[in-house]
Amino acid sequence: MNSRERFLAALAGGKPDRTPLAHVAAMTTTELQQSTGCFMPAVHLDAEQQARLIAANHDALGFDAVSFIINFFGEPAALGAEMDWGAPDRLPTFMSNPWRTPEDAIIPGDLLDRQPVSTCLETIRIAKRRYGDRIAVLGKIMGPFSMLQAMHGVENVLMELLDSPLQIAAFLVVCVEALVRCANAQFEAGADAISIGEGGAGARMLSPAAYEGCLLPVHQRMISRIHGPTIMHICGDVRSRLHLLAQTGMTCFNFDWAVPPAEMAAAAAGKFSIMGNINTTDLLCAAPAEIARQVEECLAAGVHIISPGCATSPKCPNANLRAMSEAIGRVQNR
Ligand SMILES: [Zn+2]
Repeated sequence: MNSRERFLAALAGGKPDRTPLAHVAAMTTTELQQSTGCFMPAVHLDAEQQARLIAANHDALGFDAVSFIINFFGEPAALGAEMDWGAPDRLPTFMSNPWRTPEDAIIPGDLLDRQPVSTCLETIRIAKRRYGDRIAVLGKIMGPFSMLQAMHGVENVLMELLDSPLQIAAFLVVCVEALVRCANAQFEAGADAISIGEGGAGARMLSPAAYEGCLLPVHQRMISRIHGPTIMHICGDVRSRLHLLAQTGMTCFNFDWAVPPAEMAAAAAGKFSIMGNINTTDLLCAAPAEIARQVEECLAAGVHIISPGCATSPKCPNANLRAMSEAIGRVQNR
């Protein structure tokens, strides 16, 4: 099996020749930027450089599937959010919330032609053409709740969830329209699967009841309209919501280190595949031996795809990221 075949088999819950390594959240390092000569922030608006930099996650670090979009906030940026584009050691983030009322929430006809969405689609086309026969090419959209937090402000969203839930619902309808359009364009450009970054709906942000009432139907509607496999990421300890996540229709769940791998595997069995959950603080600060220990725990629990539990810092040493593929090789080839 090559990397792409291995990843797609595991994503579908099958049994590949060995467990694949993938990432869906942003991942690059300052070391990789130096070795490829492709640096943030320029790569976010340069498809050729973004593709080259991210392919190094396969070539230098041993990843079987890589997400070719680094910036989390592509859709808000295309819809007018001011951006801090960051630096080689700092990921981009949004600086303004352009939607005050639902009347502001309009999706322009040229959304897919706007920066940085257009650059990310071109990055996926280049990646598919150049690497797509051997590695899995992943795309990325925001989750609708996280997108609304960027467009309307985190505090406004959390307050209005209680005070004016109908307004939040109206905003979310518009978010879903934009996100479905971006997701399906990524599949047309050649993505094998896309991730849905719903970090803003983390365990500390929404109770299980609030998730079930306001967001589960939105996730269901959105995923049913996306023409390919989806990998949802939600931060934190989501154990109290796992029965609800099974109803979203997602293909796979990228869980973070707050959820023990064995518990995650038991809850997901037969419902969706799972991907996780190496501690990203340890990927930054710990020694490779600790990373290997966590990989072994995930393998023993039957996690389908090994990956970081969330976005990783660009300051992570390559040696720690490489420790994941090395640990898989050691355990499964012995
Ligand atoms: Zn996360």
